[in-house]
Amino acid sequence: MTSSAEYKALESKYYMQVVNRMPPVLIRGEGTRVFDNDGISYLDFTAGWAVLNIGHNHPAVTEAIRDQAGKILQMSNLFYTTPQLPLAKIIVDNSHVDRVFFCNSGAEANEGACKVARKWGKLKLDGAYEIITTLDSFHGRTQAMMAATGQPHYQDNWKPLMPGFVNVPYNDVQAIKNAYVKGKTCAVLIEPVQGEGGVNIPSDKYLKEIMDFCHQENILFMLDEVQTGMGRIGTLFGYQQFSGVEPDVMTLAKALGSGAPLGAFTTKEFCSVLEPGDHGSTFGGNALTTAAGAAAAKVLVEENIPSLANETGAYFQGKLKALSEKHGFISEVRGMGLLIAIEMSKEISGTIVSAALQKGLLINAVRPNMIRFMPPLNVSKGEIDEAVEILDQIFTESDN
Ligand SMILES: *Cc1c(COP(=O)(O)O)cnc(C)c1O
Repeated sequence: MTSSAEYKALESKYYMQVVNRMPPVLIRGEGTRVFDNDGISYLDFTAGWAVLNIGHNHPAVTEAIRDQAGKILQMSNLFYTTPQLPLAKIIVDNSHVDRVFFCNSGAEANEGACKVARKWGKLKLDGAYEIITTLDSFHGRTQAMMAATGQPHYQDNWKPLMPGFVNVPYNDVQAIKNAYVKGKTCAVLIEPVQGEGGVNIPSDKYLKEIMDFCHQENILFMLDEVQTGMGRIGTLFGYQQFSGVEPDVMTLAKALGSGAPLGAFTTKEFCSVLEPGDHGSTFGGNALTTAAGAAAAKVLVEENIPSLANETGAYFQGKLKALSEKHGFISEVRGMGLLIAIEMSKEISGTIVSAALQKGLLINAVRPNMIRFMPPLNVSKGEIDEAVEILDQIFTESDN
């Protein structure tokens, strides 16, 4: 057996050093737990980065992948293939969008959405091409999505940025109206709740007011649901938490493939402007990834997992609020469904994440003073209690 030290030596010699990895070498997962190469188990409150919404190795997903692997893995989209169709139907039947294009990641999904927006601008708005996005957003790491992502850290080393994006403050409708230029702006792209930006929840009216403004100006209202989609914030799609809101364009990835690399951009019929030859992808809609996605989506819908996320999320937030009363440095607990963060008055996220790891809990330092939790949506209350007990111990050590 290869030892963990040997794996780490291979990583440092051969892998591009673009991330500071956490110590464990993880080799297996089951439900909310992962196991490392040394047999140690961890409660995974990162869920493969908000990907494993029905947990690691869900039998329905594993079975679908096994079954599909024995039939056909890949054909060009020039031919009909099957698993992508039931998945597209589940998305359309349970949302307000009408058409789906599958791709391989969140960044690609947003690229596709922006192509729809630019074509919309070309056809309907005298060549308008600019897309308004927000500060502290995250839309991916391609050349265009770095420009869309309103965080200097993702932009500074790669200037000049791709033209055609403007970043304005989040949760500020007026800022969008001010940035809008008739004949230049073609769309707004926004996260219903900002994930990587620190779990920022907008006011109840924010999305509806943007939508109304977009429709008034005939520009596209596009939601990046890569993180909030597939039940994460307590409804199958995040926008369903906000009354009266329906996106013209919606993007998905992360949990869509339940661990298989799968993204999608979706549109309402009226703005389904891409035509044959306008877009494509070799692997997009691949039989293996969409088989996994269809199996996972079926479980999410049939077992009503999003409402479970709502209920368990409220339970978890209640427990975290109790901790915040006990430990004065926790200044805020916020979240929706099972996308939850705590904010602290001290910049100690890194220390807390390392201490949690030592005690068998995986969590994310989303900012130096913020911790994010994104467990599988079918996490049990017992597992939440276990995580809260570990956090209480660590917070007690950090009280002074
Ligand atoms: C993760 C994320 C992306 C990027 O997805 P990738 O699959 O890493 O390209 C885009 N938007 C949001 C909201 C995300 O959370």
